[in-house]
Amino acid sequence: MNADIFLVPPRQSIKLKDYNSAYTGEFKNKKEAKEKLKSDIKKLSKLQDILFASSTYSVLVILQAMDAAGKDGLIKHVMSGLNPQGCQVYSFKVPSEEELKHDYMWRCINKLPERGHIGIFNRSYYEEVLVVKVHPELLNRQNLPLSSPTDSEIIWKMRYEQINNFEKYLFENGTIIIKFFLHLSKDEQKNRFLKRIDIQEKNWKFSLGDIKEREFWEDYQKAYEDMLSNTSTPYAPWYILPADNKWYTRLAAAQIIISKLESLNLSYPKTTEEHLKELEKAKILLENEDGLT
Ligand code: ATP
Ligand code: MG
Repeated sequence: MNADIFLVPPRQSIKLKDYNSAYTGEFKNKKEAKEKLKSDIKKLSKLQDILFASSTYSVLVILQAMDAAGKDGLIKHVMSGLNPQGCQVYSFKVPSEEELKHDYMWRCINKLPERGHIGIFNRSYYEEVLVVKVHPELLNRQNLPLSSPTDSEIIWKMRYEQINNFEKYLFENGTIIIKFFLHLSKDEQKNRFLKRIDIQEKNWKFSLGDIKEREFWEDYQKAYEDMLSNTSTPYAPWYILPADNKWYTRLAAAQIIISKLESLNLSYPKTTEEHLKELEKAKILLENEDGLT
Protein backbone atom coordinates (compact mmCIF):
# COMPACT_ATOMS: atom_id res chain seq x y z
CA MET A 1 0.00 0.00 0.00
CA ASN A 2 1.35 3.39 -0.96
CA ALA A 3 0.07 5.53 1.91
CA ASP A 4 1.41 8.70 0.26
CA ILE A 5 -1.75 8.84 -1.84
CA PHE A 6 -3.61 9.91 1.32
CA LEU A 7 -1.23 12.76 2.10
CA VAL A 8 -2.53 16.31 1.73
CA PRO A 9 0.25 18.22 -0.03
CA PRO A 10 1.21 21.38 1.85
CA ARG A 11 -0.29 24.64 0.61
CA GLN A 12 -2.69 22.88 -1.68
CA SER A 13 -6.36 23.71 -1.75
CA ILE A 14 -8.29 20.45 -1.65
CA LYS A 15 -11.90 19.46 -2.25
CA LEU A 16 -13.22 16.44 -0.38
CA LYS A 17 -15.37 15.48 -3.36
CA ASP A 18 -12.11 14.55 -5.13
CA TYR A 19 -11.42 11.89 -2.49
CA ASN A 20 -13.20 8.54 -2.60
CA SER A 21 -14.38 7.66 0.90
CA ALA A 22 -15.05 4.05 -0.19
CA TYR A 23 -11.54 3.43 -1.59
CA THR A 24 -9.99 0.11 -0.53
CA GLY A 25 -6.99 -0.11 -2.88
CA GLU A 26 -5.87 -3.64 -3.64
CA PHE A 27 -7.96 -5.07 -0.77
CA LYS A 28 -11.38 -6.41 -1.60
CA ASN A 29 -12.79 -7.24 1.79
CA LYS A 30 -12.25 -7.38 5.52
CA LYS A 31 -10.99 -10.95 5.40
CA GLU A 32 -8.12 -10.05 3.08
CA ALA A 33 -7.19 -7.10 5.24
CA LYS A 34 -7.27 -9.03 8.51
CA GLU A 35 -3.93 -10.85 8.11
CA LYS A 36 -2.19 -7.69 6.98
CA LEU A 37 -3.46 -5.71 9.98
CA LYS A 38 -2.32 -8.50 12.28
CA SER A 39 1.23 -8.38 10.97
CA ASP A 40 1.18 -4.55 10.97
CA ILE A 41 0.18 -4.54 14.63
CA LYS A 42 3.16 -6.76 15.42
CA LYS A 43 5.46 -4.42 13.52
CA LEU A 44 4.01 -1.43 15.33
CA SER A 45 4.55 -3.08 18.67
CA LYS A 46 8.24 -3.69 17.89
CA LEU A 47 8.69 -0.12 16.69
CA GLN A 48 6.99 1.22 19.81
CA ASP A 49 9.41 -0.76 21.93
CA ILE A 50 12.38 0.93 20.23
CA LEU A 51 10.67 4.34 20.44
CA PHE A 52 10.19 3.80 24.17
CA ALA A 53 13.73 2.54 24.76
CA SER A 54 15.42 5.30 22.76
CA SER A 55 13.22 7.95 24.38
CA THR A 56 14.20 10.66 21.90
CA TYR A 57 11.00 11.35 20.03
CA SER A 58 7.36 11.37 20.98
CA VAL A 59 4.59 10.60 18.53
CA LEU A 60 1.32 12.48 18.45
CA VAL A 61 -1.51 11.01 16.40
CA ILE A 62 -4.44 13.38 15.90
CA LEU A 63 -7.81 12.02 14.82
CA GLN A 64 -10.56 14.23 13.46
CA ALA A 65 -13.78 13.17 11.79
CA MET A 66 -17.52 13.45 11.60
CA ASP A 67 -19.51 11.37 14.08
CA ALA A 68 -19.47 7.60 13.56
CA ALA A 69 -16.48 7.76 11.20
CA GLY A 70 -14.66 5.16 13.28
CA LYS A 71 -12.17 7.03 15.45
CA ASP A 72 -12.82 4.86 18.49
CA GLY A 73 -12.57 1.60 16.53
CA LEU A 74 -9.34 2.74 14.90
CA ILE A 75 -7.80 3.45 18.29
CA LYS A 76 -9.00 0.12 19.66
CA HIS A 77 -7.76 -2.00 16.77
CA VAL A 78 -4.60 -0.29 15.57
CA MET A 79 -3.26 0.33 19.05
CA SER A 80 -4.25 -3.08 20.42
CA GLY A 81 -0.72 -4.47 20.27
CA LEU A 82 0.96 -1.53 21.98
CA ASN A 83 2.44 -1.51 25.43
CA PRO A 84 -0.06 0.59 27.45
CA GLN A 85 2.82 1.99 29.47
CA GLY A 86 4.02 3.98 26.47
CA CYS A 87 0.71 4.98 24.99
CA GLN A 88 -1.99 7.46 26.06
CA VAL A 89 -5.32 8.33 24.51
CA TYR A 90 -7.20 11.55 25.24
CA SER A 91 -10.68 12.33 23.99
CA PHE A 92 -11.45 16.02 23.86
CA LYS A 93 -15.08 16.85 24.49
CA VAL A 94 -16.95 20.14 24.82
CA PRO A 95 -14.56 22.29 26.90
CA SER A 96 -15.29 22.53 30.61
CA GLU A 97 -15.66 25.83 32.42
CA GLU A 98 -12.12 25.57 33.68
CA GLU A 99 -10.78 24.83 30.21
CA LEU A 100 -12.62 27.83 28.80
CA LYS A 101 -10.79 30.07 31.25
CA HIS A 102 -7.59 29.31 29.32
CA ASP A 103 -6.45 29.71 25.74
CA TYR A 104 -7.76 26.96 23.42
CA MET A 105 -4.46 25.12 23.21
CA TRP A 106 -4.04 24.80 26.97
CA ARG A 107 -5.97 21.61 27.61
CA CYS A 108 -4.17 19.85 24.74
CA ILE A 109 -0.70 21.02 25.76
CA ASN A 110 -1.32 19.37 29.11
CA LYS A 111 -1.88 16.03 27.42
CA LEU A 112 1.04 15.96 24.99
CA PRO A 113 2.98 12.68 24.99
CA GLU A 114 6.37 12.57 26.67
CA ARG A 115 9.47 11.37 24.84
CA GLY A 116 9.27 7.70 23.96
CA HIS A 117 5.48 7.71 24.13
CA ILE A 118 2.71 7.60 21.57
CA GLY A 119 -0.14 9.99 22.34
CA ILE A 120 -3.46 9.85 20.59
CA PHE A 121 -5.77 12.82 20.46
CA ASN A 122 -9.34 11.74 19.76
CA ARG A 123 -10.42 15.20 18.56
CA SER A 124 -8.11 18.07 19.42
CA TYR A 125 -7.49 21.81 19.20
CA TYR A 126 -8.66 21.43 15.58
CA GLU A 127 -12.22 21.51 16.94
CA GLU A 128 -11.58 25.23 17.30
CA VAL A 129 -11.57 25.60 13.51
CA LEU A 130 -14.28 22.96 12.96
CA VAL A 131 -17.23 22.89 15.35
CA VAL A 132 -16.51 26.50 16.35
CA LYS A 133 -16.37 27.55 12.70
CA VAL A 134 -19.66 25.80 11.96
CA HIS A 135 -21.19 27.38 15.10
CA PRO A 136 -19.39 30.73 15.36
CA GLU A 137 -21.57 31.73 18.32
CA LEU A 138 -19.27 29.45 20.34
CA LEU A 139 -16.61 32.13 20.03
CA ASN A 140 -18.59 34.08 22.62
CA ARG A 141 -18.01 31.42 25.29
CA GLN A 142 -14.91 33.23 26.41
CA ASN A 143 -14.20 36.78 27.43
CA LEU A 144 -11.74 37.54 24.69
CA PRO A 145 -9.67 40.74 24.81
CA LEU A 146 -11.14 43.73 23.00
CA SER A 147 -8.17 43.67 20.63
CA SER A 148 -9.21 40.22 19.28
CA PRO A 149 -10.37 40.29 15.68
CA THR A 150 -14.13 40.22 15.16
CA ASP A 151 -14.05 39.51 11.43
CA SER A 152 -14.50 35.75 11.34
CA GLU A 153 -12.33 35.22 8.23
CA ILE A 154 -9.42 36.81 10.10
CA ILE A 155 -10.09 34.62 13.14
CA TRP A 156 -9.78 31.35 11.21
CA LYS A 157 -6.70 32.51 9.30
CA MET A 158 -5.12 33.53 12.59
CA ARG A 159 -5.95 30.16 14.15
CA TYR A 160 -4.50 28.18 11.22
CA GLU A 161 -1.31 30.16 11.61
CA GLN A 162 -1.23 29.66 15.38
CA ILE A 163 -1.73 25.92 14.94
CA ASN A 164 0.95 25.67 12.25
CA ASN A 165 3.40 27.58 14.43
CA PHE A 166 2.58 25.46 17.45
CA GLU A 167 3.07 22.22 15.51
CA LYS A 168 6.35 23.49 14.05
CA TYR A 169 7.55 24.17 17.57
CA LEU A 170 6.56 20.66 18.67
CA PHE A 171 8.24 19.09 15.64
CA GLU A 172 11.45 21.01 16.23
CA ASN A 173 11.45 19.70 19.77
CA GLY A 174 11.07 16.04 18.88
CA THR A 175 7.35 15.43 18.48
CA ILE A 176 6.37 13.51 15.37
CA ILE A 177 2.87 14.63 14.42
CA ILE A 178 0.58 12.48 12.29
CA LYS A 179 -2.89 13.81 11.55
CA PHE A 180 -5.71 11.67 10.24
CA PHE A 181 -8.99 12.91 8.87
CA LEU A 182 -11.39 9.97 8.56
CA HIS A 183 -13.33 10.72 5.40
CA LEU A 184 -16.82 9.27 5.69
CA SER A 185 -19.69 9.64 3.21
CA LYS A 186 -23.02 11.03 4.33
CA ASP A 187 -24.76 7.79 3.32
CA GLU A 188 -22.41 5.64 5.34
CA GLN A 189 -22.90 7.90 8.37
CA LYS A 190 -26.63 7.33 8.04
CA ASN A 191 -26.11 3.52 7.92
CA ARG A 192 -23.99 3.63 11.03
CA PHE A 193 -26.45 5.85 12.90
CA LEU A 194 -29.26 3.45 12.00
CA LYS A 195 -27.21 0.55 13.38
CA ARG A 196 -26.61 2.50 16.58
CA ILE A 197 -30.36 2.95 16.88
CA ASP A 198 -31.37 -0.61 15.90
CA ILE A 199 -28.78 -2.63 17.79
CA GLN A 200 -29.27 -2.46 21.54
CA GLU A 201 -25.56 -2.86 22.35
CA LYS A 202 -24.85 0.19 20.23
CA ASN A 203 -27.62 2.43 21.61
CA TRP A 204 -25.27 4.10 24.09
CA LYS A 205 -23.19 5.47 21.22
CA PHE A 206 -26.07 7.48 19.85
CA SER A 207 -27.53 10.79 20.91
CA LEU A 208 -30.04 13.07 19.25
CA GLY A 209 -27.29 15.69 19.06
CA ASP A 210 -25.65 13.54 16.39
CA ILE A 211 -28.62 14.12 14.08
CA LYS A 212 -28.52 17.84 14.83
CA GLU A 213 -24.87 18.07 13.76
CA ARG A 214 -25.60 15.98 10.66
CA GLU A 215 -27.84 18.82 9.47
CA PHE A 216 -24.67 20.91 9.22
CA TRP A 217 -22.94 18.30 7.03
CA GLU A 218 -22.04 20.67 4.20
CA ASP A 219 -20.74 23.32 6.59
CA TYR A 220 -18.55 20.71 8.27
CA GLN A 221 -17.22 19.45 4.92
CA LYS A 222 -16.25 23.02 4.05
CA ALA A 223 -14.62 23.58 7.45
CA TYR A 224 -12.67 20.33 7.03
CA GLU A 225 -11.56 21.32 3.53
CA ASP A 226 -10.30 24.68 4.80
CA MET A 227 -8.56 23.05 7.74
CA LEU A 228 -6.88 20.42 5.53
CA SER A 229 -5.85 23.01 2.94
CA ASN A 230 -4.37 25.37 5.50
CA THR A 231 -2.76 23.15 8.11
CA SER A 232 -1.09 20.31 6.24
CA THR A 233 2.61 21.08 6.52
CA PRO A 234 5.83 19.15 5.87
CA TYR A 235 6.34 18.87 9.65
CA ALA A 236 2.73 17.97 10.54
CA PRO A 237 0.97 16.53 7.51
CA TRP A 238 -2.69 15.60 7.21
CA TYR A 239 -3.77 12.29 5.72
CA ILE A 240 -7.29 11.84 4.36
CA LEU A 241 -8.22 8.25 5.13
CA PRO A 242 -11.14 6.64 3.30
CA ALA A 243 -13.54 5.74 6.10
CA ASP A 244 -16.56 4.00 4.54
CA ASN A 245 -14.85 0.65 5.22
CA LYS A 246 -13.53 0.62 8.76
CA TRP A 247 -11.14 -2.25 8.10
CA TYR A 248 -9.43 -0.24 5.37
CA THR A 249 -9.15 2.94 7.48
CA ARG A 250 -7.35 0.91 10.14
CA LEU A 251 -4.95 -0.65 7.65
CA ALA A 252 -4.09 2.71 6.14
CA ALA A 253 -3.55 4.32 9.54
CA ALA A 254 -1.31 1.49 10.73
CA GLN A 255 0.70 1.67 7.53
CA ILE A 256 1.29 5.41 7.86
CA ILE A 257 2.32 5.22 11.52
CA ILE A 258 4.68 2.34 10.73
CA SER A 259 6.40 4.15 7.86
CA LYS A 260 6.74 7.29 9.98
CA LEU A 261 8.36 5.34 12.79
CA GLU A 262 10.60 3.42 10.38
CA SER A 263 11.77 6.64 8.78
CA LEU A 264 13.17 7.74 12.14
CA ASN A 265 15.74 4.92 11.96
CA LEU A 266 15.57 4.43 15.69
CA SER A 267 17.69 1.93 17.53
CA TYR A 268 17.98 0.64 21.06
CA PRO A 269 20.36 2.76 23.17
CA LYS A 270 24.01 1.78 22.70
CA THR A 271 25.66 0.07 25.64
CA THR A 272 28.55 2.23 26.84
CA GLU A 273 31.96 0.78 27.72
CA GLU A 274 31.31 1.59 31.35
CA HIS A 275 27.90 -0.10 31.32
CA LEU A 276 29.41 -3.12 29.54
CA LYS A 277 31.93 -3.51 32.38
CA GLU A 278 29.09 -3.30 34.89
CA LEU A 279 27.16 -5.97 33.01
CA GLU A 280 30.17 -8.30 33.00
CA LYS A 281 30.67 -7.73 36.68
CA ALA A 282 27.01 -8.44 37.39
CA LYS A 283 27.17 -11.62 35.33
CA ILE A 284 30.13 -12.91 37.32
CA LEU A 285 28.33 -12.12 40.57
CA LEU A 286 25.22 -13.97 39.41
CA GLU A 287 27.19 -16.97 38.17
CA ASN A 288 29.10 -17.26 41.42
CA GLU A 289 25.84 -17.04 43.29
CA ASP A 290 24.58 -19.99 41.21
CA GLY A 291 27.70 -21.93 42.04
CA LEU A 292 27.08 -21.51 45.77
CA THR A 293 23.57 -22.91 45.68
P1 ATP B 1 -18.48 9.34 19.38
O1 ATP B 1 -17.92 8.95 18.04
O2 ATP B 1 -18.55 8.19 20.32
O3 ATP B 1 -19.74 10.12 19.27
P2 ATP B 1 -17.20 11.82 20.00
O4 ATP B 1 -15.76 12.15 19.84
O5 ATP B 1 -18.13 12.42 19.00
O6 ATP B 1 -17.36 10.26 20.02
P3 ATP B 1 -18.90 12.99 21.91
O7 ATP B 1 -18.90 13.01 23.39
O8 ATP B 1 -20.08 12.50 21.17
O9 ATP B 1 -17.60 12.23 21.45
O10 ATP B 1 -18.64 14.44 21.34
C1 ATP B 1 -17.68 15.29 21.71
C2 ATP B 1 -18.17 16.64 21.25
O11 ATP B 1 -17.33 17.64 21.78
C3 ATP B 1 -18.16 16.80 19.74
O12 ATP B 1 -19.42 17.18 19.29
C4 ATP B 1 -17.16 17.91 19.51
O13 ATP B 1 -17.46 18.72 18.42
C5 ATP B 1 -17.22 18.64 20.84
N1 ATP B 1 -16.03 19.43 21.08
C6 ATP B 1 -14.75 19.00 21.18
N2 ATP B 1 -13.90 20.05 21.33
C7 ATP B 1 -14.66 21.16 21.31
C8 ATP B 1 -14.37 22.55 21.40
N3 ATP B 1 -13.14 22.98 21.54
N4 ATP B 1 -15.41 23.40 21.36
C9 ATP B 1 -16.67 22.95 21.21
N5 ATP B 1 -17.00 21.66 21.12
C10 ATP B 1 -16.02 20.78 21.16
MG1 MG C 1 -20.28 12.09 19.05
